[in-house]
Amino acid sequence: MAWQSFVGLEIHVQLLTQSKVFCSCAAAFGSEPNTNVCPVCLGYPGVLPALNGEAIEMGYTVARALNCTLAEECMFDRKNYFYPDLPKNYQISQFHHPLGTNGWIDLEFRRKKKRIRIHEIHLEEDAGKMIHAGDMSLLDYNRAGTPLLEIVTEPDLEIGEEAEALLQELRRIVRYLAVCDGNMEEGSMRCDANVSVNLRDAGLGSKVEIKNLNSSRFVRKALTHEIERQQEILERGGTVAQETRLWNENRDLTESMRSKESAHDYRYFPEPDMPRFRTDDAFLARVEARLVELPAARRERFATQYGLDLAQVELLCEERATADWYERCVAAGGEATAVAAWLAGDVRQQLNRAGATLDASPLTPERLAELLRLLDAGTIHGPIAKQTLRLIFERDDDPEAIIRAEGWELVSDRGVLGEAVAAAVAAHPQAAEQIRAGDRKPIGFLVGQVMKATGGRAEPTLVRTLIDEALSVSTIDVLSFGGAIAGRRQSDGLVVGGNLADLNALFENDPDLPSGIRFAEVALGEFLSEEILPSDWATLIATVQERLSEGSSRALVIGHGTDTLAYTASLLAWLFADARIPIVLTASAVPGEEGGRGEAIDTLRRAVAWAAGGGVRGETPTGAAPGTPGVHVLYGSRLYPPVNLKYLRADATSAAFETWNVATATESTHAIGREARALPVGQLSSALEEAVRRTHVAKVYPGMRGETLIANMDAGVRHIVLELYDTGTANLREAPFSLRRAIAHAREAAVDLFCTSQQEGVVDFSGYVTAHELWRGGAIPMGGLTTESVYTRLLVAQIEAGARRGGEGRGGAQRSAFDLPDDSSYRDEVVSLMEDAP
Ligand code: ZN
Ligand code: MN
Repeated sequence: MAWQSFVGLEIHVQLLTQSKVFCSCAAAFGSEPNTNVCPVCLGYPGVLPALNGEAIEMGYTVARALNCTLAEECMFDRKNYFYPDLPKNYQISQFHHPLGTNGWIDLEFRRKKKRIRIHEIHLEEDAGKMIHAGDMSLLDYNRAGTPLLEIVTEPDLEIGEEAEALLQELRRIVRYLAVCDGNMEEGSMRCDANVSVNLRDAGLGSKVEIKNLNSSRFVRKALTHEIERQQEILERGGTVAQETRLWNENRDLTESMRSKESAHDYRYFPEPDMPRFRTDDAFLARVEARLVELPAARRERFATQYGLDLAQVELLCEERATADWYERCVAAGGEATAVAAWLAGDVRQQLNRAGATLDASPLTPERLAELLRLLDAGTIHGPIAKQTLRLIFERDDDPEAIIRAEGWELVSDRGVLGEAVAAAVAAHPQAAEQIRAGDRKPIGFLVGQVMKATGGRAEPTLVRTLIDEALSVSTIDVLSFGGAIAGRRQSDGLVVGGNLADLNALFENDPDLPSGIRFAEVALGEFLSEEILPSDWATLIATVQERLSEGSSRALVIGHGTDTLAYTASLLAWLFADARIPIVLTASAVPGEEGGRGEAIDTLRRAVAWAAGGGVRGETPTGAAPGTPGVHVLYGSRLYPPVNLKYLRADATSAAFETWNVATATESTHAIGREARALPVGQLSSALEEAVRRTHVAKVYPGMRGETLIANMDAGVRHIVLELYDTGTANLREAPFSLRRAIAHAREAAVDLFCTSQQEGVVDFSGYVTAHELWRGGAIPMGGLTTESVYTRLLVAQIEAGARRGGEGRGGAQRSAFDLPDDSSYRDEVVSLMEDAP
């Protein structure tokens, strides 16, 4: 049977006013008990409440920000009940005429936008606090009478995760508006939830209220548990009692507290001591003046205006102060993506180390902008920039002053360096000759000579470029990464792994290839592509990164096997899609023959020609012109995007690969691994091994049992790519041969499920009931990406999130290993890097 769940929240937000809502006592947290009290808030007879103007203004501001209809006139009512922390025996609240009604908040959850309606917003006073000590109960009335804004949503939420997301977004909003500090541990935001479950399309079920959820995590866990509990009762044919329950955080379940009272139990009646509050133009103008650009609008603007990815945008817009700081830095001349990357990476590391907030740190927006300008202008190089950042925190000084004091300015004058290069070339004619002949190794030696001559301050990239220029070398690097294209068929018929031999000899004077290009072979390993290890990928990534940062390559061509090409191509795309030169992966179904003849060499020749900007006419699904920068795949005479590649058959003459969901493939090919790709090869290798270990790919098949997935989760798998049937369905019936248990287990074990389809098509979870249950269970649809592309994206996302955090060190100062973190904020960042795909 298909069930539907309905969740509504009542969120109490403590307003940051100077004084209480109906008297002039200080509204402060943490004072000595019963020091902020007076006859009004202690409920003495004969006293009169007076409305705090700041509180009502804040209330209307929140109502306005949440798109409510603002009441021209609002009124207060008495809510009567007896409780020791309520000295008057009634609470002044708003019942008949709240200050705001019929609003909404747009929530983005799992990449889907959803509008959650706000039923009403009302202003009321808080009660005091009971402190239970042994067999005594103590009362502190400091909190009695502090202003609370109660935000009541319609039951538009369906699952715990959504409610958690709503609470977090609301927290951001009230913090942006500076009306609440959002501190849930101190009780500044408290939440009650209404939950009901019913048959799909049968409307609301019988309602259970869960009280006192004092963290967004508890909201998620309590709702998940409660929905499950009600569903089980209904499935057994029982009825759910209408009652109030409490979340027991120690036992991870809800417990019955009392049967639910209805509104009439409170005997609401209009508060006779309080006049109606009427808005006027001056008041409404003050409310308007309090409004700011809200987090959702700001995130959207940041993504489009600054070209940032989802994870960066979320990080920057979490706090208004951070977003403001970022924009001041960009206004001061900092390049938008560079500033974001530095804030997420090195700056965050320094802040963590110093235990400081951005606002209160020695790093001003102007200083970071200046540092990045110096880096961009080539005055310093990357490692020096990181050192300088560290010293800004230590010395509270300007980057320029630090660099001058340390003597760190790079020599980047082409004239000065050109002379040094010419001198080095003249002094070492043999090295120069080797380089001219295509051997790259002596370049490092010549760079070293120039470094020595300039006291280590020469800009290395420019030195390499100048050496290339001086020796008129413009290389296309051909990297061999195993596979048949580099393999050789022995006389006994066995294919052995190999490397690309004698490229220079083969391609020299080739009329099909542009002249003036030399080939540098970098053999990465002698293996077949099905034997790829994480460390092989690490070597490939590090080599590509090294070639790109050297800046002397005109293009990179990578020879690869056919079977696993879809993986390596998408892996490189997530890392290097923004490369400024073409990176072309190519493969052949048949191994090369002795003497360099045959399809393997022909394909390689076409790839080189295309990368160089010439040759290869034929079908190109991407329509990319020869020599287009970024990652590409060339097979036979066809060119493919690196993402969503599917291998069909070993046939080079007809289309042996195809691209699934071309639009998604083209749209989603953006680099997400800017920090990951810069890791040293040792760290990259251990991070990749760890990421692979935590990742599992499972194809859903009839009769599949959840237990197999559960065993994997228990063995340490943290992310599962679930390849579903068709458009996102799986068996979720209550049976052993179903995924139901695995979905529930994943949610409890905080394992993320990413859904792809076995068919070409977009997983959108729309029409199918079982897909909807997967969605409720927290599975994340990956749209039109293939399993292969999602798997490699997961690897890159994990390493990127780890690298942004700075990893978890292992083994002393000279760290070679790199442990990925495993806390919830880390996993959230991985998920947001995954969800950034369209
Ligand atoms: Zn008072
Ligand atoms: Mn209330």
